Amino acid sequence: MENKEKCVIVGGGAAGLMCAARLTAGGVTPLVLEAGARVGKKILVSGNGRCNLSNSGVSEKKYNAPSFVAPVLEKYPFAEVMNFWKELGLVTREDGEGRVYPHSNYAGSVLNILLAATSRAKMLTSSPVKSIRAVSGGFSVEYVGGRVLAENVVLACGSGAGGGTASYNLLGGLGHKVTRLTPAITYLKTDAFKGLKGVRAKVQATLKTAFGTWSDKGEILFKEDGVSGILAFWLSSFLARNDCGGTLIIDFAPGMTDEEIEREYAGREELLCGLLHKALADKLLREGGLKLIKRYKVSVTLAGKDNQVTCGGADLKEWGSDMQSKLHKGLYCIGEMADVDGECGGFNLHWAWVSALACADAVLAGERND
Ligand SMILES: Cc1cc2nc3c(=O)[nH]c(=O)nc-3n(C[C@H](O)[C@H](O)[C@H](O)COP(=O)(O)OP(=O)(O)OC[C@H]3O[C@@H](n4cnc5c(N)ncnc54)[C@H](O)[C@@H]3O)c2cc1C
Repeated sequence: MENKEKCVIVGGGAAGLMCAARLTAGGVTPLVLEAGARVGKKILVSGNGRCNLSNSGVSEKKYNAPSFVAPVLEKYPFAEVMNFWKELGLVTREDGEGRVYPHSNYAGSVLNILLAATSRAKMLTSSPVKSIRAVSGGFSVEYVGGRVLAENVVLACGSGAGGGTASYNLLGGLGHKVTRLTPAITYLKTDAFKGLKGVRAKVQATLKTAFGTWSDKGEILFKEDGVSGILAFWLSSFLARNDCGGTLIIDFAPGMTDEEIEREYAGREELLCGLLHKALADKLLREGGLKLIKRYKVSVTLAGKDNQVTCGGADLKEWGSDMQSKLHKGLYCIGEMADVDGECGGFNLHWAWVSALACADAVLAGERND
């Protein structure tokens, strides 16, 4: 007969490692089963290697499922989460827009601190979990290399972003539903800017769809087949959540009025290269002149690749705010595997942390009640 573990965590990513850290701090030693050759791989590539791990402007409005996320954020306010990081040993800094990064500006610091906090946890890498069955008093977890019984199982397999979608079958196998999966936080696809690859612009961009209008200032970066950059990533979430395309209206000179542009450049259009990248200025002049500067309209769709997160996942109707299954006591689902996606800016990792804390604290409370 196999040993019975108090808690098996399936997936050693951001959420799984934070859950393991909290359990370890609370006196429970979890077993982490990780499919990859090492844990925390995605943490290392997050935020362009700098790991934008949270955002001081976090609120339920930054997520697709505000009513599900709200009680979790209320239980774990931003300051408390940052304090837990501090207790673990991570020093952070905030940029002017509320985005939180490790002080080192190096994603490895976040992973290294999580590894230090989980040094007493048992971790098996290259051990993908293949199936989970509910059995009397817990679960039987089968992974490549063995089988283990567990009183509690935490599903923390992440999303299809950067990996396969096979792990969602673990939910299906336990009778749980998975909602529609769509790539999100990706670039906006259009052929309108062919030839401008690599050109950046500070703009006000407005996305109009049949479901709403979203607008903000920020930097965009042209790709051969679309518009990228933090602002485009942010807007892509709304296309993904509504499964639609839209019209992108770009104001390339948000600090100037039409009159100011006219006064400055009418009759000496060649000087527009002093305001905008020359390739962009030439394109606007070629296609319609100065009037396009403040309202360049283009149809966009969601790029189906290079996404950072996935909209969709474990159907939230079947899970409580302690992240526990309503179908199986002792089964939890945390991080991106749940149907929670946040806007670009640190909100997805923040969700990984708070959902992990909620789950770990529920497991620890169960332990105390035993
Ligand atoms: C390029 C990129 C940049 C990003 N930058 C940011 C950022 O700066 N800020 C931000 O907030 N978010 C960012 N994100 C999103 C963020 O990284 C994710 O939302 C977050 O990592 C989700 O955490 P998770 O633990 O749920 O999933 P993951 O971190 O993906 O971890 C899941 C783990 O489970 C393992 N696994 C999967 N299936 C199995 C199985 N069957 N058995 C065992 N193990 C399994 C995987 O190998 C993986 O290690 C970025 C994403 C990408 C791809």
